[in-house]
Amino acid sequence: MAYLELIDVTKKFGDFTAVNNFNLSVNEGELVSLLGSSGCGKTTTLRMIAGFTAPTSGTIVVGGNVVNSLPPYKRNVGIVFQNYALFPHLTIFDNVAFGLKIKKLPKAEIIKRVGKALELVKLSGLEQRLPRELSGGQQQRVALARALVTEPTVLLLDEPLSNLDAKHRTEMQIEIKRIQKETGITTILVTHDQEEAMSLADRIVVMKDGMIQQEGIPREVFERPANPFVADFMGVSNFFDGKVLNVDPKTNEAKVKVEEQLITAFIGQSDVKPGDEVTIAIRPEHIEVNNSSSGCNIWEGQVYGLSYKGSVTRLVVKSAFESNLNIDVYDSKGISNGDTIKISFPLEKLIIFKK
Ligand code: ATP
Repeated sequence: MAYLELIDVTKKFGDFTAVNNFNLSVNEGELVSLLGSSGCGKTTTLRMIAGFTAPTSGTIVVGGNVVNSLPPYKRNVGIVFQNYALFPHLTIFDNVAFGLKIKKLPKAEIIKRVGKALELVKLSGLEQRLPRELSGGQQQRVALARALVTEPTVLLLDEPLSNLDAKHRTEMQIEIKRIQKETGITTILVTHDQEEAMSLADRIVVMKDGMIQQEGIPREVFERPANPFVADFMGVSNFFDGKVLNVDPKTNEAKVKVEEQLITAFIGQSDVKPGDEVTIAIRPEHIEVNNSSSGCNIWEGQVYGLSYKGSVTRLVVKSAFESNLNIDVYDSKGISNGDTIKISFPLEKLIIFKK
């Protein structure tokens, strides 16, 4: 059942529309990620839910109640910021206890709740330290404990991991997921990192210019991006513009003319017809190199860039229809700059977008 709803929410700053007719329903206990590049309106959306920014129009509903006119402290929403925003002169205990002291809870209750919150984020025993005596990851756990200790009904996470190094980020991702499932709290996570959104979220909402481009479970958004923008954001980096010559209704394959070449692609759910202008996309890891297959979608290419990335090597290849093809291979042994290689596009890995 929808617990948090944004209905036709718009936010304008002067003439500029930061969030444009935004509609979203978040189920109770669900973790939804708002994903998009800088300036697309993610934080503004979060601030409207928290009550720090008033929508220009539209309705925000939490637990069945319209909260538009409620101040932040009456919304029962917990928020964690990118920069932790801990009070530097207060101990960890006092940082976490802050909201409870404001609410004037009895001392024994405060001690009990802070203890429970610190246990949840695995920081028991560090109560008397100051924030500067903790690592970035630990400080972010304190911020999480401080947000959860007041038992909010909605948790808002604004880029909570972007100040952490890769190792702590992965650790905190696992912790956030565990804590979110353990508490069952309805959560919105704002991030510009698609991997973070994919590993944490039950559902991803991809935003651009204040509008939703696509929403769906991570696998759906990753495997079936709704448009080239989403595909690009989800790591697809090869796009070719072309024109559909014909579509075979029996095989569901389209022949698309790209430059002077023909690419054959499954059209999937798309309703492309002969004559349509389309964009074809393929992920770097889906292009096959030097395999023995024969059939369609096979070309030669010249390697002119190689960068080792650990688990894969990125090749940059010039082909008959694209001078800048990105290909990720797991085994680059025997491939050098200047080599001519055989490249092939598996039909089922091509994504076709109607223009
Ligand atoms: P980032 O990842 O960089 O935080 P974001 O997606 O969270 O980006 P927002 O902070 O929501 O983006 O900002 C959306 C747009 O609204 C931006 O163009 C920003 O400059 C503009 N904006 C945000 N707050 C204000 C404000 N108070 N006054 C004017 N413009 C604003």
